[in-house]
Amino acid sequence: MNFIIIFADDLGYGDLSSFGNPSILTPNLDRMAMEGQKWTNFYVGASVCTPSRAALMTGRLPIRNGMMSSPNRVLYPNSANGLPESEITLAEQLKKAGYKTGMVGKWHLGHKEPYLPTNHGFDSYYGIPYSNDMDITRKLTPGNGYWELWTKLYDQLSIEDFNVPLLRGTEIIERPANQHTISERYTDESIAFIRKNKDHPFFLYLAHNFPHVPLFTNERFKGSSKGGLYGDVVEEMDYQVGRILEALKEEGLDKNTLVVFTSDNGPWLPTEISGGTAGQLRDGKGTTWEGGMREPTIFWAPGNIKPGVITDLGTTMDLFTTFSRIAGQELPKDRELDGYDLSGVLFNKESSPRKEVYYYRERELYAVRLGSFKAHFITKGGYGKVEKLYHEVPLLYNVDQDPSERFNIAEAHPEIIEKIKALVKEHESKMVKMPDMLKDLESGRNVP
Ligand code: MG
Repeated sequence: MNFIIIFADDLGYGDLSSFGNPSILTPNLDRMAMEGQKWTNFYVGASVCTPSRAALMTGRLPIRNGMMSSPNRVLYPNSANGLPESEITLAEQLKKAGYKTGMVGKWHLGHKEPYLPTNHGFDSYYGIPYSNDMDITRKLTPGNGYWELWTKLYDQLSIEDFNVPLLRGTEIIERPANQHTISERYTDESIAFIRKNKDHPFFLYLAHNFPHVPLFTNERFKGSSKGGLYGDVVEEMDYQVGRILEALKEEGLDKNTLVVFTSDNGPWLPTEISGGTAGQLRDGKGTTWEGGMREPTIFWAPGNIKPGVITDLGTTMDLFTTFSRIAGQELPKDRELDGYDLSGVLFNKESSPRKEVYYYRERELYAVRLGSFKAHFITKGGYGKVEKLYHEVPLLYNVDQDPSERFNIAEAHPEIIEKIKALVKEHESKMVKMPDMLKDLESGRNVP
Protein backbone atom coordinates (compact mmCIF):
# COMPACT_ATOMS: atom_id res chain seq x y z
CA MET A 1 0.00 0.00 0.00
CA ASN A 2 1.25 3.50 -0.88
CA PHE A 3 1.19 6.34 1.63
CA ILE A 4 0.59 10.05 1.15
CA ILE A 5 0.58 12.56 4.00
CA ILE A 6 -0.81 15.99 3.13
CA PHE A 7 0.13 18.38 5.90
CA ALA A 8 -1.36 21.89 6.13
CA ASP A 9 0.36 24.64 8.10
CA ASP A 10 -1.56 26.42 10.89
CA LEU A 11 -4.93 25.19 9.61
CA GLY A 12 -7.40 25.29 12.50
CA TYR A 13 -9.75 22.56 13.68
CA GLY A 14 -12.72 24.63 12.44
CA ASP A 15 -11.41 25.66 9.03
CA LEU A 16 -12.96 22.97 6.80
CA SER A 17 -16.64 22.71 5.90
CA SER A 18 -16.67 19.11 7.11
CA PHE A 19 -15.34 20.30 10.48
CA GLY A 20 -17.97 23.00 10.80
CA ASN A 21 -16.72 26.09 9.00
CA PRO A 22 -19.76 28.14 7.94
CA SER A 23 -18.04 30.18 5.17
CA ILE A 24 -15.10 28.29 3.69
CA LEU A 25 -16.01 25.59 1.17
CA THR A 26 -13.79 22.51 0.98
CA PRO A 27 -15.68 20.02 -1.21
CA ASN A 28 -12.70 17.79 -1.98
CA LEU A 29 -11.67 17.33 1.64
CA ASP A 30 -15.30 16.91 2.61
CA ARG A 31 -15.69 14.12 0.06
CA MET A 32 -12.48 12.54 1.36
CA ALA A 33 -14.01 12.62 4.84
CA MET A 34 -17.26 11.05 3.60
CA GLU A 35 -15.49 8.28 1.69
CA GLY A 36 -12.91 7.71 4.43
CA GLN A 37 -12.59 8.34 8.15
CA LYS A 38 -12.96 11.71 9.76
CA TRP A 39 -11.06 11.79 13.07
CA THR A 40 -12.35 14.31 15.59
CA ASN A 41 -9.82 13.61 18.38
CA PHE A 42 -6.56 13.54 16.47
CA TYR A 43 -3.50 15.35 17.83
CA VAL A 44 -0.07 16.58 16.85
CA GLY A 45 3.11 16.28 18.92
CA ALA A 46 3.45 20.01 19.59
CA SER A 47 1.58 23.26 18.97
CA VAL A 48 4.21 24.89 16.73
CA CYS A 49 5.80 23.91 13.41
CA THR A 50 9.24 22.41 14.02
CA PRO A 51 8.51 20.07 16.95
CA SER A 52 5.19 19.03 15.40
CA ARG A 53 6.98 18.00 12.21
CA ALA A 54 9.70 16.21 14.17
CA ALA A 55 6.98 14.16 15.90
CA LEU A 56 5.33 13.27 12.60
CA MET A 57 8.62 12.25 10.96
CA THR A 58 10.04 10.20 13.85
CA GLY A 59 6.98 8.80 15.61
CA ARG A 60 8.44 10.19 18.82
CA LEU A 61 7.65 13.05 21.16
CA PRO A 62 9.91 15.87 19.98
CA ILE A 63 11.27 16.29 23.49
CA ARG A 64 13.07 12.98 22.82
CA ASN A 65 14.90 14.26 19.74
CA GLY A 66 15.89 17.76 20.85
CA MET A 67 13.43 19.51 18.55
CA MET A 68 11.59 21.34 21.36
CA SER A 69 13.03 24.41 22.92
CA SER A 70 12.63 27.72 24.64
CA PRO A 71 12.77 30.56 23.71
CA ASN A 72 13.43 29.34 20.14
CA ARG A 73 10.35 27.24 19.65
CA VAL A 74 11.10 26.55 15.97
CA LEU A 75 14.06 26.60 13.60
CA TYR A 76 14.91 29.92 11.91
CA PRO A 77 16.93 30.83 8.82
CA ASN A 78 19.85 31.54 11.19
CA SER A 79 19.53 28.28 13.13
CA ALA A 80 22.66 26.18 13.23
CA ASN A 81 21.14 22.71 13.59
CA GLY A 82 18.29 20.43 12.59
CA LEU A 83 16.80 17.00 13.17
CA PRO A 84 19.66 14.83 14.47
CA GLU A 85 21.08 12.28 12.06
CA SER A 86 20.56 9.60 14.72
CA GLU A 87 16.78 9.87 14.35
CA ILE A 88 15.00 7.40 12.07
CA THR A 89 12.51 9.23 9.88
CA LEU A 90 9.35 7.71 8.45
CA ALA A 91 11.01 7.99 5.03
CA GLU A 92 14.04 5.99 6.19
CA GLN A 93 11.78 3.44 7.81
CA LEU A 94 9.70 2.93 4.64
CA LYS A 95 12.79 2.87 2.45
CA LYS A 96 13.87 -0.22 4.38
CA ALA A 97 10.58 -1.77 3.23
CA GLY A 98 11.43 -0.96 -0.41
CA TYR A 99 9.47 2.27 -0.80
CA LYS A 100 10.30 5.20 -3.07
CA THR A 101 10.13 8.35 -0.99
CA GLY A 102 9.40 11.93 -2.03
CA MET A 103 9.00 15.14 -0.11
CA VAL A 104 7.36 18.29 -1.41
CA GLY A 105 6.85 21.49 0.59
CA LYS A 106 7.73 22.88 3.99
CA TRP A 107 10.31 20.77 5.80
CA HIS A 108 11.28 22.90 8.81
CA LEU A 109 13.57 20.31 10.36
CA GLY A 110 16.79 22.04 9.31
CA HIS A 111 17.65 23.95 6.13
CA LYS A 112 21.39 23.26 6.24
CA GLU A 113 22.48 20.53 3.90
CA PRO A 114 22.98 17.66 6.39
CA TYR A 115 19.45 18.14 7.71
CA LEU A 116 17.54 18.46 4.44
CA PRO A 117 14.99 15.80 3.40
CA THR A 118 17.36 14.15 0.92
CA ASN A 119 19.71 13.48 3.86
CA HIS A 120 16.86 12.18 5.99
CA GLY A 121 15.55 9.35 3.83
CA PHE A 122 13.78 11.09 0.94
CA ASP A 123 14.82 10.31 -2.64
CA SER A 124 13.74 13.77 -3.77
CA TYR A 125 12.84 17.16 -2.34
CA TYR A 126 11.16 20.25 -3.77
CA GLY A 127 10.04 23.01 -1.46
CA ILE A 128 10.56 25.96 0.84
CA PRO A 129 12.64 24.54 3.71
CA TYR A 130 11.00 26.60 6.49
CA SER A 131 8.07 28.95 7.16
CA ASN A 132 6.88 31.27 4.41
CA ASP A 133 7.00 34.32 6.76
CA MET A 134 10.76 34.06 7.29
CA ASP A 135 13.55 36.09 5.64
CA ILE A 136 11.46 39.26 5.95
CA THR A 137 12.88 42.10 3.83
CA ARG A 138 10.31 44.73 4.79
CA LYS A 139 11.46 47.19 7.43
CA LEU A 140 9.56 46.60 10.64
CA THR A 141 8.90 49.71 12.71
CA PRO A 142 6.96 50.36 15.91
CA GLY A 143 3.28 50.41 14.96
CA ASN A 144 4.13 48.62 11.72
CA GLY A 145 5.87 45.64 13.25
CA TYR A 146 5.67 41.92 12.78
CA TRP A 147 2.09 41.41 13.96
CA GLU A 148 0.79 44.41 12.01
CA LEU A 149 1.89 42.65 8.80
CA TRP A 150 -1.03 40.29 9.30
CA THR A 151 -3.56 42.51 11.01
CA LYS A 152 -3.12 45.84 9.19
CA LEU A 153 -0.98 45.34 6.13
CA TYR A 154 -2.02 41.84 5.10
CA ASP A 155 -3.44 42.80 1.72
CA GLN A 156 -0.46 45.03 0.83
CA LEU A 157 2.21 42.37 1.16
CA SER A 158 4.10 41.07 -1.85
CA ILE A 159 6.21 37.97 -2.34
CA GLU A 160 9.33 40.19 -2.37
CA ASP A 161 8.68 40.97 1.30
CA PHE A 162 9.65 37.37 2.14
CA ASN A 163 12.93 36.28 0.63
CA VAL A 164 12.34 32.58 1.19
CA PRO A 165 14.21 30.11 -1.00
CA LEU A 166 12.72 27.31 -3.08
CA LEU A 167 14.93 24.22 -3.19
CA ARG A 168 15.19 21.23 -5.45
CA GLY A 169 17.25 18.61 -3.67
CA THR A 170 19.81 20.73 -1.84
CA GLU A 171 20.04 23.56 -4.41
CA ILE A 172 18.22 26.89 -4.31
CA ILE A 173 16.36 27.25 -7.62
CA GLU A 174 14.28 30.37 -6.93
CA ARG A 175 14.44 33.24 -4.45
CA PRO A 176 12.14 34.71 -3.38
CA ALA A 177 9.91 31.76 -4.05
CA ASN A 178 6.81 32.82 -5.95
CA GLN A 179 4.25 32.09 -3.28
CA HIS A 180 1.29 32.88 -5.55
CA THR A 181 1.86 29.67 -7.47
CA ILE A 182 3.55 27.54 -4.82
CA SER A 183 0.52 25.44 -3.83
CA GLU A 184 -0.12 24.64 -7.47
CA ARG A 185 3.52 23.81 -8.14
CA TYR A 186 3.74 21.61 -5.02
CA THR A 187 0.77 19.71 -6.40
CA ASP A 188 2.30 19.44 -9.89
CA GLU A 189 5.47 18.00 -8.33
CA SER A 190 3.46 15.59 -6.19
CA ILE A 191 1.47 14.34 -9.17
CA ALA A 192 4.68 13.88 -11.18
CA PHE A 193 6.12 11.84 -8.28
CA ILE A 194 2.97 9.68 -8.13
CA ARG A 195 2.99 9.01 -11.89
CA LYS A 196 6.71 8.25 -11.92
CA ASN A 197 6.38 5.71 -9.12
CA LYS A 198 3.01 4.21 -9.99
CA ASP A 199 4.50 0.72 -10.43
CA HIS A 200 6.35 0.83 -7.15
CA PRO A 201 5.29 1.27 -3.52
CA PHE A 202 5.78 4.91 -2.59
CA PHE A 203 5.57 7.36 0.28
CA LEU A 204 4.87 11.00 -0.52
CA TYR A 205 5.00 13.69 2.13
CA LEU A 206 3.38 16.89 0.84
CA ALA A 207 3.58 19.73 3.37
CA HIS A 208 1.86 22.91 2.17
CA ASN A 209 3.23 26.25 3.39
CA PHE A 210 -0.29 27.63 3.72
CA PRO A 211 -2.53 28.77 5.36
CA HIS A 212 0.42 30.00 7.50
CA VAL A 213 0.88 33.75 6.99
CA PRO A 214 1.64 35.53 4.67
CA LEU A 215 -1.33 34.49 2.58
CA PHE A 216 -0.88 34.30 -1.17
CA THR A 217 -3.06 32.52 -3.65
CA ASN A 218 -3.24 31.83 -7.30
CA GLU A 219 -5.03 34.69 -9.15
CA ARG A 220 -7.86 32.31 -10.02
CA PHE A 221 -8.75 31.92 -6.35
CA LYS A 222 -8.49 35.56 -5.30
CA GLY A 223 -11.88 36.68 -3.97
CA SER A 224 -13.39 33.25 -4.61
CA SER A 225 -14.31 32.53 -1.00
CA LYS A 226 -16.73 34.12 1.41
CA GLY A 227 -14.01 33.54 4.00
CA GLY A 228 -11.78 36.39 2.78
CA LEU A 229 -8.15 35.95 1.73
CA TYR A 230 -7.73 33.18 4.34
CA GLY A 231 -10.74 31.40 2.85
CA ASP A 232 -9.34 31.82 -0.69
CA VAL A 233 -6.09 30.16 0.39
CA VAL A 234 -7.83 27.25 2.13
CA GLU A 235 -10.17 26.77 -0.85
CA GLU A 236 -7.19 26.66 -3.18
CA MET A 237 -5.54 24.05 -0.97
CA ASP A 238 -8.74 22.02 -1.09
CA TYR A 239 -8.75 22.27 -4.88
CA GLN A 240 -5.13 21.11 -5.01
CA VAL A 241 -5.93 18.13 -2.76
CA GLY A 242 -8.69 17.25 -5.23
CA ARG A 243 -6.13 17.18 -8.05
CA ILE A 244 -4.02 14.62 -6.13
CA LEU A 245 -7.03 12.35 -5.53
CA GLU A 246 -7.96 12.69 -9.21
CA ALA A 247 -4.44 11.70 -10.30
CA LEU A 248 -4.57 8.63 -8.03
CA LYS A 249 -7.86 7.60 -9.66
CA GLU A 250 -6.49 8.16 -13.16
CA GLU A 251 -3.52 5.91 -12.41
CA GLY A 252 -5.72 3.29 -10.74
CA LEU A 253 -3.89 3.87 -7.46
CA ASP A 254 -6.81 5.08 -5.36
CA LYS A 255 -7.56 1.60 -4.02
CA ASN A 256 -4.07 0.92 -2.73
CA THR A 257 -2.99 4.36 -1.54
CA LEU A 258 -3.70 5.61 1.95
CA VAL A 259 -3.99 9.41 2.02
CA VAL A 260 -3.90 11.23 5.34
CA PHE A 261 -4.75 14.91 5.61
CA THR A 262 -4.05 16.95 8.73
CA SER A 263 -2.36 20.14 9.99
CA ASP A 264 0.83 20.76 11.98
CA ASN A 265 -0.80 22.90 14.69
CA GLY A 266 -3.83 25.05 15.40
CA PRO A 267 -4.70 28.50 14.05
CA TRP A 268 -2.35 31.40 14.74
CA LEU A 269 -4.84 33.60 16.57
CA PRO A 270 -2.78 36.84 16.93
CA THR A 271 -2.73 37.07 13.12
CA GLU A 272 -6.44 37.86 13.50
CA ILE A 273 -8.21 37.95 10.13
CA SER A 274 -5.16 36.40 8.42
CA GLY A 275 -5.56 33.27 10.52
CA GLY A 276 -8.09 30.51 10.97
CA THR A 277 -10.30 29.21 13.73
CA ALA A 278 -10.20 26.24 16.05
CA GLY A 279 -14.01 26.17 15.98
CA GLN A 280 -15.35 25.23 19.38
CA LEU A 281 -11.92 24.25 20.71
CA ARG A 282 -10.16 26.58 23.12
CA ASP A 283 -7.29 28.85 22.01
CA GLY A 284 -4.86 28.01 19.20
CA LYS A 285 -1.29 27.65 17.97
CA GLY A 286 1.44 27.86 20.55
CA THR A 287 -0.71 26.62 23.43
CA THR A 288 -1.53 23.27 24.97
CA TRP A 289 -5.26 24.02 24.97
CA GLU A 290 -7.19 21.82 22.56
CA GLY A 291 -7.19 24.45 19.80
CA GLY A 292 -3.39 24.30 19.66
CA MET A 293 -2.96 20.59 19.16
CA ARG A 294 -6.17 18.91 17.99
CA GLU A 295 -6.34 18.95 14.19
CA PRO A 296 -8.95 18.27 11.50
CA THR A 297 -7.81 14.86 10.27
CA ILE A 298 -8.98 12.62 7.44
CA PHE A 299 -7.86 9.13 6.37
CA TRP A 300 -8.82 8.07 2.84
CA ALA A 301 -8.37 4.80 0.95
CA PRO A 302 -11.68 3.89 -0.66
CA GLY A 303 -12.49 0.20 -0.42
CA ASN A 304 -9.86 -0.31 2.29
CA ILE A 305 -10.73 2.09 5.06
CA LYS A 306 -14.09 1.61 6.73
CA PRO A 307 -15.83 4.98 6.35
CA GLY A 308 -17.11 6.83 9.39
CA VAL A 309 -16.43 9.40 12.07
CA ILE A 310 -13.83 8.30 14.62
CA THR A 311 -14.03 9.94 18.03
CA ASP A 312 -11.25 7.78 19.55
CA LEU A 313 -7.75 9.16 20.07
CA GLY A 314 -4.95 9.25 17.53
CA THR A 315 -1.82 11.33 16.93
CA THR A 316 0.58 12.05 14.08
CA MET A 317 3.15 9.92 15.94
CA ASP A 318 0.94 6.91 15.33
CA LEU A 319 1.50 7.18 11.57
CA PHE A 320 5.11 5.92 11.93
CA THR A 321 3.89 2.82 13.76
CA THR A 322 0.80 2.30 11.60
CA PHE A 323 2.55 2.69 8.24
CA SER A 324 5.38 0.41 9.41
CA ARG A 325 2.86 -2.25 10.34
CA ILE A 326 1.01 -1.99 7.01
CA ALA A 327 4.29 -2.04 5.06
CA GLY A 328 5.50 -5.07 7.03
CA GLN A 329 8.53 -3.22 8.35
CA GLU A 330 9.69 -4.03 11.88
CA LEU A 331 9.84 -1.11 14.29
CA PRO A 332 13.24 0.02 15.56
CA LYS A 333 14.00 -1.58 18.92
CA ASP A 334 16.86 0.64 20.05
CA ARG A 335 14.70 3.64 21.00
CA GLU A 336 11.46 4.67 22.64
CA LEU A 337 8.63 5.29 20.16
CA ASP A 338 5.43 7.12 21.06
CA GLY A 339 3.09 5.70 18.45
CA TYR A 340 0.30 3.15 18.35
CA ASP A 341 -0.82 0.98 15.46
CA LEU A 342 -4.12 2.46 14.25
CA SER A 343 -4.65 -0.04 11.43
CA GLY A 344 -7.37 -1.88 13.38
CA VAL A 345 -9.36 1.36 13.54
CA LEU A 346 -8.75 2.15 9.88
CA PHE A 347 -9.57 -1.24 8.39
CA ASN A 348 -11.96 -2.78 10.95
CA LYS A 349 -13.24 0.15 12.99
CA GLU A 350 -11.89 -1.41 16.17
CA SER A 351 -11.43 0.92 19.11
CA SER A 352 -8.19 2.88 19.13
CA PRO A 353 -5.33 1.46 21.20
CA ARG A 354 -4.38 5.03 22.16
CA LYS A 355 -5.83 6.19 25.47
CA GLU A 356 -3.51 9.07 26.36
CA VAL A 357 -2.02 12.24 24.89
CA TYR A 358 0.96 14.18 26.27
CA TYR A 359 0.93 17.92 25.65
CA TYR A 360 4.49 19.20 25.84
CA ARG A 361 5.48 22.80 25.37
CA GLU A 362 9.09 23.97 25.12
CA ARG A 363 10.91 21.61 27.52
CA GLU A 364 8.06 20.79 29.90
CA LEU A 365 4.99 18.60 30.13
CA TYR A 366 2.02 20.98 30.42
CA ALA A 367 -0.99 18.69 30.20
CA VAL A 368 -2.08 15.07 29.82
CA ARG A 369 -5.24 13.59 28.40
CA LEU A 370 -6.36 10.16 29.63
CA GLY A 371 -9.55 8.92 27.99
CA SER A 372 -12.10 11.69 28.21
CA PHE A 373 -10.19 13.66 30.84
CA LYS A 374 -7.46 16.22 30.45
CA ALA A 375 -5.39 17.65 33.31
CA HIS A 376 -3.45 20.89 32.88
CA PHE A 377 -0.41 21.16 35.20
CA ILE A 378 0.84 24.32 33.53
CA THR A 379 -1.05 26.78 31.31
CA LYS A 380 0.25 29.68 29.25
CA GLY A 381 -1.13 31.81 26.43
CA GLY A 382 0.28 31.49 22.94
CA TYR A 383 2.10 34.70 22.03
CA GLY A 384 2.94 38.13 23.37
CA LYS A 385 2.94 39.01 27.06
CA VAL A 386 1.41 35.92 28.61
CA GLU A 387 1.38 34.58 32.11
CA LYS A 388 2.71 31.12 32.86
CA LEU A 389 0.64 29.47 35.58
CA TYR A 390 1.62 26.38 37.54
CA HIS A 391 -1.41 24.58 38.92
CA GLU A 392 -0.81 22.87 42.27
CA VAL A 393 -4.18 21.21 41.75
CA PRO A 394 -4.31 20.70 38.01
CA LEU A 395 -7.23 22.05 36.01
CA LEU A 396 -9.36 19.11 34.92
CA TYR A 397 -11.73 19.00 31.95
CA ASN A 398 -13.83 16.28 30.40
CA VAL A 399 -12.90 17.15 26.81
CA ASP A 400 -15.46 14.77 25.33
CA GLN A 401 -18.32 16.49 27.13
CA ASP A 402 -16.64 19.87 27.21
CA PRO A 403 -14.36 20.23 24.17
CA SER A 404 -14.12 23.98 24.75
CA GLU A 405 -12.46 23.38 28.17
CA ARG A 406 -14.83 25.69 30.00
CA PHE A 407 -15.76 23.76 33.14
CA ASN A 408 -12.99 22.82 35.56
CA ILE A 409 -14.13 19.66 37.37
CA ALA A 410 -10.96 19.07 39.42
CA GLU A 411 -12.69 19.42 42.77
CA ALA A 412 -15.27 16.76 42.01
CA HIS A 413 -12.77 14.22 40.63
CA PRO A 414 -9.63 13.92 42.75
CA GLU A 415 -9.46 10.21 41.84
CA ILE A 416 -9.02 11.02 38.14
CA ILE A 417 -6.28 13.51 38.95
CA GLU A 418 -4.52 10.81 40.98
CA LYS A 419 -4.74 8.41 38.05
CA ILE A 420 -3.29 10.97 35.64
CA LYS A 421 -0.54 11.88 38.13
CA ALA A 422 0.44 8.21 38.35
CA LEU A 423 0.61 8.05 34.56
CA VAL A 424 2.81 11.17 34.50
CA LYS A 425 5.12 9.71 37.12
CA GLU A 426 5.64 6.57 35.08
CA HIS A 427 6.06 8.54 31.84
CA GLU A 428 8.62 10.90 33.36
CA SER A 429 10.59 8.12 35.05
CA LYS A 430 11.38 6.69 31.61
CA MET A 431 11.77 9.96 29.70
CA VAL A 432 15.19 10.69 28.22
CA LYS A 433 15.34 14.24 26.82
CA MET A 434 17.91 14.89 24.12
CA PRO A 435 19.86 18.16 24.33
CA ASP A 436 18.14 21.18 22.79
CA MET A 437 18.86 21.34 19.04
CA LEU A 438 17.02 24.63 18.44
CA LYS A 439 18.95 26.94 20.74
CA ASP A 440 22.07 27.53 18.62
CA LEU A 441 21.84 30.45 16.21
CA GLU A 442 24.53 31.54 13.81
CA SER A 443 23.70 35.23 14.18
CA GLY A 444 21.25 37.77 15.50
CA ARG A 445 17.83 37.36 17.06
CA ASN A 446 14.53 36.09 15.86
CA VAL A 447 10.97 37.28 15.47
CA PRO A 448 8.33 36.87 16.69
MG1 MG B 1 2.47 25.60 11.75
